[in-house]
Amino acid sequence: MSDADSCKLNAVLDAMEDGIYIIASDYTIEFMNRRMQETFGDGTGKKCHEVIHNLSEPCPWCARARVLAGETVRQEVFIPPVDKVYEITEFPLRNEDGSASMLSIYRDVTFRKQSEKKLKTTEESFKSLFEHVGCGVYLSTREGRFLDANRALWKTLGYGSKEEFLKIDIARDLYLKPEDRRAFQDRIERDGHVLDHEVTFRRKDGAPMPVLLTAHGVRDEYGNVMGYEGIMTDQTMRKRMEKELRDATIFLSKLIQSSPNAIMAADMKGNILIWNRAAEEILGYKAGDVIGRMNIEKVYPEGMARQVMKMLRSSDYGGVGVLRSHPLLAVNQDGRTVDADLSAAVIYDEKGREMATVGIMVDVSSRMEMERKLRQIQEQLLQSEKLAAMGRLTSQIAHELNNPLYGIMNTLELLKSEVPATSKRRKILEMALSETVRLTDMLRKMLIFSKPDQEARQETDLNAIMDELLLLYGKQLSEYSVKVAIDFAENLPTVKASRNQLRQVFLNMITNARDAMPEGGVLTVRTFARGEFACVAISDTGCGIKPEHLDKIFEAFFTTKESIKGVGLGLSVCYGFIRDHGGDISVESTPGEGTTFTVSLPAV
Ligand code: ADP
Repeated sequence: MSDADSCKLNAVLDAMEDGIYIIASDYTIEFMNRRMQETFGDGTGKKCHEVIHNLSEPCPWCARARVLAGETVRQEVFIPPVDKVYEITEFPLRNEDGSASMLSIYRDVTFRKQSEKKLKTTEESFKSLFEHVGCGVYLSTREGRFLDANRALWKTLGYGSKEEFLKIDIARDLYLKPEDRRAFQDRIERDGHVLDHEVTFRRKDGAPMPVLLTAHGVRDEYGNVMGYEGIMTDQTMRKRMEKELRDATIFLSKLIQSSPNAIMAADMKGNILIWNRAAEEILGYKAGDVIGRMNIEKVYPEGMARQVMKMLRSSDYGGVGVLRSHPLLAVNQDGRTVDADLSAAVIYDEKGREMATVGIMVDVSSRMEMERKLRQIQEQLLQSEKLAAMGRLTSQIAHELNNPLYGIMNTLELLKSEVPATSKRRKILEMALSETVRLTDMLRKMLIFSKPDQEARQETDLNAIMDELLLLYGKQLSEYSVKVAIDFAENLPTVKASRNQLRQVFLNMITNARDAMPEGGVLTVRTFARGEFACVAISDTGCGIKPEHLDKIFEAFFTTKESIKGVGLGLSVCYGFIRDHGGDISVESTPGEGTTFTVSLPAV
């Protein structure tokens, strides 16, 4: 080889990416190209194991003997001093003088090796994932056989081994409805994939199993679908939970609906969310008309909803967020108020923010009505007890006073006959006598109050009684400038009554009317029939009765008159008589305008 040729050869060798060197049979390096020198330093003339491996002995992987014997040897070797993996190819060379040398080519495969290692790790991870992932993963043929399936798949479907599972006919053994598989295949054919496709599989034991399939088609080089790759998730648990949730919701809804108390819930703006049957009954609105359509404010009188929210947020009514059994008024669909009892609570979200309110309302109208009646009866009872006690006392007093009074009256009468009619003393005597007469009259009333007259009751015409009374007292009334107007019903039904007692009742009312009209006025007496009752209404145009006195006037000893005029027994005696006859007295009065007493007695 000429020098020029050898120069060209060296230039080519230096330009190569691989490291190249030649050693003589005694390991001495005769040539190193640039790449080799760059990596290991210029080692020409040194022993190759010193340069490559920093060793005084030949390298453990040295193939010199085999190569010198004529073999070409290729091996991958890790060279620690340079931390690289080389693919080393060594060829025998025969020199012109007959001696043998060895050509070594070092190809750096470190990067490739690392990638391969990485790939291997990734592949292993995928394999592990395939095997251990919780859902079923498979590869199947278009004809309906599994080529591969992970453990989760065959286990979930109740098979004992992968081998057993790979033998099944998918359409026949796995799909509960074969048409489901056709639909699956059609969709893959059309879209290339299916996502959360819901079907029912059959487990090995025949039990149905709802599953979700996500898969895509595996195609050949012509684009035809050869098979499917996909995952299957078991929906049994989800379906069961869904059913449990549905059942629980239905149960809860039934619970709310069947409650005898009104249950209402609203969001924080007052929009109604829940409205049960009892709420419909108590408040009149139908659930369909209020849920999401009406504000809860509407079921309370003005300002009450705000008041309820205030109480809910305060700690004074059962704790913050709670309102315990609170009486209030609700307003029903017709605008009528309903006596109600409300228990309520605020519902908070997981961050403690107010989310909604729920209220349980009980209609207490009938209870309140009963309580009112009970109170009335108790008051009446108290009244009659009071009357009985008063009666006993008054009868005693009356008896005690009666005799001395008659004594005084007789004495005065006696004295009167002894004093001439023209004498001044006679006038004084007469005054004393008239006061004594008034006193005996009062005593008589008191006795009647304590021991009502037990006169026999007879069929009585109220018109006739009133006629007779007005005839007797007409003159007196006109002296008081009281005009009398009468309006008697024809064919007024008769009543069975003690006439004296009736006279006393009406006379008392006429006297009261007269007293109420000191400046004069009109006394109207009206008789009429109402249902099973015959009624007498006595009206005046007098001072009227103050509202706060209205329920007291029938009490014994209640009077607004000066002590000399009234004892306050008249109306209580009247009331006793009329109740005794099975009747009733009602009163209507407007202060400054007048009063009407209406006596109603059962018609015969
Ligand atoms: P008395 O006449 O002795 O006061 P009553 O029992 O008859 O007793 O009446 C009780 C009270 O009822 C009277 O004091 C008066 O205040 C009131 N009252 C009764 N009738 C009338 C009337 N027609 N107008 C105004 N007040 C009346």
